[in-house]
Amino acid sequence: MSDILQMITYDPAVINEQLRAVAPTHQLSDYGSIDAIPADIRERITAAASSATLPFDAAMMEALPNLKLISVYGVGYDKIDLAAARARDVAIATTSTSLTETVAELTIGLVLAGSRQLIAADQFIRSGDWLKGPMPLGFDIRGKTIGIFGFGRIGQKIAELLEVFGARVIYCARSEKPGVPYGYRPTIEALAEDSRILIIIAPGTPDTFDIVNRDVLKRLGSDGLLVNVARGSLVKEDDLIAALEAGEIAGACLDVFAQEPKVPQGLIDSPKTVLAPHIGSATYETRLHMGMTVIENIAAMIADKPLLTPLTF
Ligand code: NAP
Repeated sequence: MSDILQMITYDPAVINEQLRAVAPTHQLSDYGSIDAIPADIRERITAAASSATLPFDAAMMEALPNLKLISVYGVGYDKIDLAAARARDVAIATTSTSLTETVAELTIGLVLAGSRQLIAADQFIRSGDWLKGPMPLGFDIRGKTIGIFGFGRIGQKIAELLEVFGARVIYCARSEKPGVPYGYRPTIEALAEDSRILIIIAPGTPDTFDIVNRDVLKRLGSDGLLVNVARGSLVKEDDLIAALEAGEIAGACLDVFAQEPKVPQGLIDSPKTVLAPHIGSATYETRLHMGMTVIENIAAMIADKPLLTPLTF
């Protein structure tokens, strides 16, 4: 008894084929919900091949009495009921070693898209505006102070890349990191106050919910740029729209939103936003590596070996 519940179809498709080779695999999409899966199959399921964007609540765990592992495609665990997993002794594995560099690269892309107005520049030509005169000026990253909220795997990689551009990095995390050459700020308010660009890359938790509010945005200031690659739950979107409309910040580059795939109209309509559909890890190589890591964790659990990338929670 070691069946797998596959909760999404993975891309690249080879991941789906390789997952099926590990153990009998049941597609959630064939049933619509876990409750609708026949009881004898539910009882055989010991692993769920899931995704960071899918909820996994206590009722779902309850419906899978022999579940031992939720293998997550992604590093976010904000949609999983951790207390329920702990109570039922369900382990969680994420793809924590797969996507750090790729998400950091996209972040640099968003920083440049904001500071050099790359999306507006493209539109400037297509609309014929260039024939009427030059574009408004952007600003350099070199020499600017860039604040990073969340200084784990991805935050530290972003800092490394920004150094190459000659930016001065400061950061905020729950604790100061010994031996890093960057200034620490104990609160997001202090970080925003001292930053020209504020990058958000901390997990979505009750502690970080709506942490980027109107006050933080005002502190970032009228020439400030917000870049969110973490989770939509960290930014109070109504406050962001109001701050953009009032000119309290210069712009926002966002890969994540509170109610994905729905994006507030105020962010879509604003000429000061750059929007991406949660593509932080969305490259062929990274997604393949993530998929293989999901599979390897499940195979390890079935073989009674240690998980490759367990989440400590
Ligand atoms: P990580 O290595 O676990 O680092 C998380 C960092 O956030 C740590 O520095 C931690 O502080 C800090 N943090 C946690 N709670 C905090 C709080 N209340 N106040 C201040 N700092 C806090 O995680 P990671 O791999 O860098 O990933 C970070 C997040 O990025 C993920 O949880 C996920 O939601 C998001 N993400 C998004 C995408 C995308 O596609 N856009 C892709 C991957 C990940 P300490 O170091 O002091 O513990």
